[in-house]
Amino acid sequence: MPRRILIVGGGIAGLTASIALAKELTQVGADLDITIYDSRTEHSMGDGGAISLTPIAQHHLDQLGVLPELSQMGEDTGIEVDEIDIYSLRSGRSLGPLRFADDTGRGYGGYKSRRVLRSALFRAMLAVARQYAQISVEFDKKLSSSSTNSNAVTLEFDDGTTTTGDLLLGCDGVHSAVRTQLVDPGNQSEYTGISFIQSLAPAERVLLPSHFDESAIHLTRQGSLLASYCDPSHQTMFVAAIMRVNEHIIERYRALGYTDNNIAALTSAQMALRYQVRSKFGVSAFPWIREWIEETRDWELYPIYQVPQRGKWHVDRALLLGDAAHAMPPREESAAYAIEDAVIFAQIFAQGPERPLHRIFVEYENARRGLVDKAFDATRRLWQSDLDKGLFPGNFRDCMSSTQLPPNPLLKETADGPITEPIFPPPTHESMSDLSVYTLTSELEVALDADEGRTKAPL
Ligand SMILES: Cc1cc2nc3c(=O)[nH]c(=O)nc-3n(C[C@H](O)[C@H](O)[C@H](O)COP(=O)(O)OP(=O)(O)OC[C@H]3O[C@@H](n4cnc5c(N)ncnc54)[C@H](O)[C@@H]3O)c2cc1C
Repeated sequence: MPRRILIVGGGIAGLTASIALAKELTQVGADLDITIYDSRTEHSMGDGGAISLTPIAQHHLDQLGVLPELSQMGEDTGIEVDEIDIYSLRSGRSLGPLRFADDTGRGYGGYKSRRVLRSALFRAMLAVARQYAQISVEFDKKLSSSSTNSNAVTLEFDDGTTTTGDLLLGCDGVHSAVRTQLVDPGNQSEYTGISFIQSLAPAERVLLPSHFDESAIHLTRQGSLLASYCDPSHQTMFVAAIMRVNEHIIERYRALGYTDNNIAALTSAQMALRYQVRSKFGVSAFPWIREWIEETRDWELYPIYQVPQRGKWHVDRALLLGDAAHAMPPREESAAYAIEDAVIFAQIFAQGPERPLHRIFVEYENARRGLVDKAFDATRRLWQSDLDKGLFPGNFRDCMSSTQLPPNPLLKETADGPITEPIFPPPTHESMSDLSVYTLTSELEVALDADEGRTKAPL
């Protein structure tokens, strides 16, 4: 049985895999040694603003002890989002809330949406991983090459060190070296055409009161602007402009080669980003938005890449998990897929760790491939059809947040007959892909057209 497990990438998939494997395999009494290698320093892990965790992601994180850890982190706990307010950016018209909680305030299986700082999520995951003696994490270890055969896997890092193991999990994200060098050579990531230009700052940056309670999405044909508090006392604000950004702008941005020490290049990059945000979202009915854009200098660019679909996921002793295997077009459910990959792999592995790895990998792929392909196809279709129409994807559901229309009331039988108290079912990926959102999207298209003066059609 593979005892020495090497995980490249200590992000969401890698840390979840380590915890899930330690948990599952300890239960079957296996003797394990799991090492995670990440190219970043511990200090820089979790850069990238805030993330929205879907109910199903939280369900898994709860089972693994990460959610309880996060819950003890005070302001870093994040906020539970009951609903996201949707507005037309130009007219200020409310287009209705997207709800995560039923009329009793209960979410899917008890989980709503959660907006949390990536750095806080990382610290919570790392703290849980460190509770297991079998797991060790090494930072500042960039994989430079890897090889595998039927007997072992060997990794080489850019500091010249090498290591060997019995099983390699490639959890190194969308630009994965494990994928492009070893598992599926040549399967390079591709830019989706969409980027996040985002800022994370004290909410007091804007003195005006905000027009939303927790989270709001502001739609225009040119993109969407998400604004969300990230902490229980509403002191930290995450604002993301999700919009088309030409690839040559991304290349120029990178070519500036800015660092914190190169203030001139950094300032120039931030001014260019601010210009992009202002040109798309500066004309708004909301004074709060206008002021946020006015007051914000420290915008950061996060281009969204995807992995060409239906590539290989495993070879010999190496398996890809999370974005390394299937980074999708923008959808805020992606972390949930990465987390669930790791959990399901650990469960399948623990059902018979003595089996040949190839059999375990095939069983895992059979369990995951259909679901991932379906999600990928749905997201790509939606983005493509909207882009073809010249409309910025109206799928705020996928690109901004795992939002959900209020479900139809489920009938509950009682002794007195059925009652129609609306309750939300336990979370599944399906519950995050309600087809009715497509209807809403086309309704919103009409509303946005009217708001932006393209038609006279009222909503
Ligand atoms: C702008 C943006 C916003 C998003 N918002 C959301 C959201 O709100 N909700 C949601 O569910 N999803 C969101 N996603 C998607 C989500 O972030 C990813 O699906 C998730 O992070 C995937 O986890 P992962 O562990 O597979 O990859 P990653 O989180 O990318 O982790 C990969 C790790 O591998 C390390 N690594 C890379 N190369 C090497 C190497 N050669 N050697 C060693 N280590 C290496 C990296 O340092 C990193 O720590 C967003 C994505 C983007 C880009």
